[in-house]
This record gives sequence, C-alpha cells and structure tokens, in this order.
Amino acid sequence: MRSVSILGATGSIGQNTIDLIARAPDDFAVVALTGAANIAQLAADAIRLRAQVAVTSRDDLYPALRDALAGSGVRAAAGTAAVADAAAIPADWTMSAIVGVAGLAPGLQVLERGGTLALANKETLVTAGPLVMGLVRVYGATILPVDSEHSAIFQALQGEDVALVERVIITASGGAFRDWPIDRLERATLAEASTHPNWAMGQRITIDSASMFNKGLELIETREFFGIAPERIEVIVHPESLVHAMVGFADGALMAHVGPPDMRHAIGYALHWPARRPLPVARLDLAAIGTMTFRAPDPARYPALALARMVMQTGGLSGAAFNAAKECALDAFIDGAIGFQDMARVVGRVLDTMLAREGLQNAATHLDEVMQTDRLARIRATEAIAQMKV
Ligand code: NAD
Ligand code: MG
Repeated sequence: MRSVSILGATGSIGQNTIDLIARAPDDFAVVALTGAANIAQLAADAIRLRAQVAVTSRDDLYPALRDALAGSGVRAAAGTAAVADAAAIPADWTMSAIVGVAGLAPGLQVLERGGTLALANKETLVTAGPLVMGLVRVYGATILPVDSEHSAIFQALQGEDVALVERVIITASGGAFRDWPIDRLERATLAEASTHPNWAMGQRITIDSASMFNKGLELIETREFFGIAPERIEVIVHPESLVHAMVGFADGALMAHVGPPDMRHAIGYALHWPARRPLPVARLDLAAIGTMTFRAPDPARYPALALARMVMQTGGLSGAAFNAAKECALDAFIDGAIGFQDMARVVGRVLDTMLAREGLQNAATHLDEVMQTDRLARIRATEAIAQMKV
C-alpha cells in the first residue's frame, strides 16, 4: 500500500492519475487531493477515493467544498496556503499537476520533506530549475518526470551513463497550425488554437502546443532536469506523436520511446517506478500505422523555440521571466486582446527588456526571488500587451 497525494487533481493530468489509482484501490491510500474551481469533481473524487483532505485553492469556495464533503469524513480546506500545507503532509508519492507557476510552491513543500514528486507541472523546473534541483540534493528528494517527452528520456536513460549522451531529441506534434500557411497564423482564432491534432489536454497547454511555447518550456525543463547542454537538445516535428523522445549515445545509437499519445503511459511509469506494471493504454499496431514522419521545425512558424533557447543559454532567473510573460500573453490571447503571433512578440520584448535592465543571469536561492521576477515580468508583459492592442 502506497500513500499518494494529487495536486491539481481535477485537471487533465490529475484525472488521468485518478483513473490509474482508482483501478487498483487496494494498492493506494489517498492523502490529499487539491483543485480550484471544480468543487463537485474535487469532492466526488475525495469521497470515492477516501482521501484524508480535499483542498480548493479558492478561499471563496470553502463553504461549497465543506458542504459537499459534509458527513463524508474527508476534511475540507481552502486557500493557497492550504494547498501548500496539503503538499507538506507526508505521502510516499505526490503528483504535481497544478497548471502554471501556482504549482511551484506546493512542489517545493514536497521536495523539502524529502518526498517523491511526480512532476507534470512544467513551470517548476522552468522558473526555478537550479533551486529545485538544489533542494532535491539537500533533502534527498526524488523527481520523476511526467511530461511524456521527459518520461521518455528518463526511461531511455535507465541504466545508462548520462556522460555518454550525445544528443536528446524531443518530438513535437507541430500543434494545430503545423500545416497552415504562415501568414494565416496572424489571424488564428482562440477556437482554432484550442484543438490539438493528437493529445487531449487542458486548454492552456493545447494553445501552447500550437505556438510551441510548450516545446520551449520542455527544452528548458530538459536542460534543467537532466543537466544536458542546450546545444545537445534538439526538437523535431513528428506529426504522429508516437515517438515521444529519443536519446542518442556516444556510439551513435538512438534509443526511442514509442507509444500511443496517452498521458497515462508517463503517469503510470512514474506511479509504479522503479517497477514497470501493466497499464491500460492502447498497444500500437505498427503495420496499421505504416509510416512515421519527421521534419525540422520552421523557426519562422515557431518563434517560441528561439526564445526558449535564449533562456537555456542565459539560465538564472530568465526562465521565470519567460514563463510569466508567456502566461500573461496567453491570457491576453484567450481574452482576445492580442493575436496568436503577438504572444511570442510579447515574450521577446519582456526578455529583451529584463535581460538589459535586470540581468536575470543569477539563479534564485529562494522562492521569493522567483516570484519577484515573475511579478516584474507580468508588469512588463502587461505594458507590452497594452502597446500592441489596436
Ligand atoms: P488543467 O488545466 O487541466 O488542470 C489544472 C489543475 O490545476 C486543476 O486541478 C486546477 O483546479 C488546478 N489549479 C488551477 N489553478 C490553480 C491555482 N491557482 N492554484 C492551485 N491549483 C490550481 O491542466 P493540465 O493539462 O492537467 O496540466 C497540468 C500541468 O501539467 C501543467 O503545468 C501542464 O503544462 C502539465 N502537463 C500537462 C499535460 C497534459 O497532457 N495535460 C502533459 C504534460 C504536462
Ligand atoms: Mg509534453
């Protein structure tokens, strides 16, 4: 029996994690589930999985959660601090699946108790990579990557010497607009950007896939987590999304992780690690698939990749600025304030300004520094967005 907590339980990753846990109720004891606005889902899952505590990050929704849990034996709590407190409760395994920089502080709580953190939240390593990896060393904590690409790299590296890695190749579906004429991207709508050709995911990450900001975040994560030099990390467009990543070794061999586009693969690997267990994912019929294709990403179509490379080279706090500017630009695109292509322009301007004024080269030694850079980047992004509005 292993005790587990799920931060961001009501989201796409959280629900896939619950799906796996609910299939083996005798193997897992649920400690904490957290969510935000979807109280009905949070309460239903907490009761069904007999969680000790259910937490909404929204203070105003405490009465609704308390009422939904009345008589169930599940404790209710609310607020940002309560989410971090829930993360601090000992559990053998904790899923980090909150979206955005809000996932950082609860994740640090898990590392500081020397816990095992299954990391889906990209912002943790992007905004605070050196700080996070430092805590892993100091507290003897474990991070298990859950993003499909990083899980693939992690699996390919089992039993291998990282010093013999020549290259890492992460694949990208190319997103919703991979075959659009580039001049049409300027007019891409929210609905068009919110559909993914292969993966079913939350709306924000789906739009980030169309712009490749998602791949940019993954490049930075790869650098931070595996400690691989930026020039050794490549992106390749692979429209079928069957190969999730490849690791190339000094002898020229490429080890690829191939599987269906189903996040339960990566979640399940992290859930059972270091064991490998049967998972309810589709088995690939390669003869039916027939062909897998690869092509180089077009830098003009995906300016987010060059911005991410700038961050990989700079290191320090530049990832926190990049992510905050990206989150602001994404909000503005969702609100209809700026166009699809403007998102990269906003992030580029924020990075240029902050690299010139703030430097950003020094790594954070405390969460406060990350959040300060995050706030400043949001102010700069809001200024850049205001200038772009017509
Ligand atoms: P989602 O939007 O479906 O779910 C987000 C979860 O976070 C929900 O439970 C929500 O209640 C919670 N949440 C939102 N705002 C919060 C806040 N301010 N404080 C606390 N909790 C809050 O997102 P998702 O698609 O499940 O993605 C979660 C994370 O995993 C993201 O960082 C994403 O980039 C990453 N990821 C997702 C996928 C995928 O397939 N969906 C794949 C790889 C990585
Ligand atoms: Mg991914």
